[in-house]
Amino acid sequence: MPKKEELKKLENSLDIFNLGINVLKKGIGYYVYFNKPTEKSRKLKIHHSSCGNCAWGTGKIGKANPGKNGVWLGPFENPLQAKEFMIAELKISNNRVKNCTCC
Ligand SMILES: [Zn+2]
Repeated sequence: MPKKEELKKLENSLDIFNLGINVLKKGIGYYVYFNKPTEKSRKLKIHHSSCGNCAWGTGKIGKANPGKNGVWLGPFENPLQAKEFMIAELKISNNRVKNCTCC
């Protein structure tokens, strides 16, 4: 799992590519992992892209099969936007959406 410091360093260094429209920068923001099998039993946590659990929406499990059980949703501009999306579009109750405690 990439470390938070490594991910922040990467995000801060994206300007060196000088690509005009920097597509990588568009990945910076807030994400939520929506896991269908545990949807009812677990809280949904909002992570920043630099969090090791999120790692720009790629997750921390190297051998995970993307999309098999769930997906990373995002990036959102801020945690509130992510929370409102979960409530309005996925019909998740307000008290089941939390901010990650490690990012
Ligand atoms: Zn996190």
